[in-house]
Amino acid sequence: MTSGVPGSRDVVPTKGVLGLDEDSLISCVACGLCLPHCPTYRATGDERRSPRGRIALMRDAESGEYTLDNEWFESMETCIQCLGCESACPAGVPFGELMGGTRAAMADLRPPPIRLRAGLWILTRPRLLHLGSRLLAVMQRLHLVPRSGFLPDRLPLHGSRLPHPSDGDVVLFTGCVMDAWQPDVHDAVQEVLEAAGSTVVRSGRAAGCCGALHEHAGLHEDAGRLAERVMGALPASLPVLVDSAGCGAALKAYGRMLGTPEAEAFSARVLDVHEWLADRLDFLPPADPEGRGRVIVQDPCHLRHAQRAHTSVHRVLDHCADVVELDDDGLCCGAGGSFSMLQPDLASAARERKVSAIARASERSGATMVVSANPGCSMHLAAAGIEVRHPLELVAEHIRQSATREEV
Ligand code: SF4
Ligand code: SF4
Repeated sequence: MTSGVPGSRDVVPTKGVLGLDEDSLISCVACGLCLPHCPTYRATGDERRSPRGRIALMRDAESGEYTLDNEWFESMETCIQCLGCESACPAGVPFGELMGGTRAAMADLRPPPIRLRAGLWILTRPRLLHLGSRLLAVMQRLHLVPRSGFLPDRLPLHGSRLPHPSDGDVVLFTGCVMDAWQPDVHDAVQEVLEAAGSTVVRSGRAAGCCGALHEHAGLHEDAGRLAERVMGALPASLPVLVDSAGCGAALKAYGRMLGTPEAEAFSARVLDVHEWLADRLDFLPPADPEGRGRVIVQDPCHLRHAQRAHTSVHRVLDHCADVVELDDDGLCCGAGGSFSMLQPDLASAARERKVSAIARASERSGATMVVSANPGCSMHLAAAGIEVRHPLELVAEHIRQSATREEV
């Protein structure tokens, strides 16, 4: 038995308080091979901030003989849910499922802070989110908004600049924050898809937020409601393409989350947009052998570890640029949805390692351009002074430059 730390609100659990699958829990053989892939263990050297330690603490909780004290909750709350450990685990421990179940139980035992729940509520109100973002953009230009590590320094004053067809052969999922804060990225993606021969319908405000951040915070019922809304708002048979790794991972997980045949069928037609394009590179203008730049690629965890689809970004970029990979084995940058807001010190420590990896890549290759296929990672790295673009913004520029060359 462990006693609670002074001042903490201890919870005395009953056996099975987390509702986790016992076979999954005992599949961890405590080998420790995941430890170097865990950003919070790398930052702290603390076993309780490691995957192995967290699994041991989950087992303790499920035994019913352990008091869930403040330290227990912090061990779980400091997990970024990056799944670097799951990719590295030779025993196939489903860490994401274990942590997802733990977070869902924690949402009742120690609910997420009110500021997070307020932020998540706004994400489900697209009109309010867009209006608030424009207002903030104006206030930023009047120097009325203090710099924060979470909000981009310069929000856009405009939305999408492209016409949006009402009918098409693919859906571009536009989400919530990315639609309000990075409309130029969606425009670039639409431009590339159209160059590859597709007509693009946007998911828009009717579909809204995918619920990834709600699920991340353990708010399983809210995430389920948002998933139902997304599925109900989109055409029943078209491929759903996603240009945000976090949203893509969430949409691909609807089948597992809701457990219905409809949700499984929906998830089966979701693709990261690079997966779609990687099979259609012949439709894009050929690379200019003399004009190829070099680009450093940051693999978002939700693409590399959750979707296992990061190589499609490399294949697409390779069409028009020389790809420079990082040497950190996909270690998380610390963004982790709302993690950088809730755990700023650990998020900064993880980011410092990523910044160093980018500096090493730049030194050995001479490349200065950095790309990431996840808006959360881009914004987190931008707060450390690194300009990060979406991979398809580069491809869109390649297409425009090729068109200009042809005209000359
Ligand atoms: S989670 Fe996997 S890699 Fe990590 S200690 Fe357990 S068995 Fe080993
Ligand atoms: S999900 Fe990421 S932060 Fe959490 S234990 Fe695994 S590697 Fe560490």
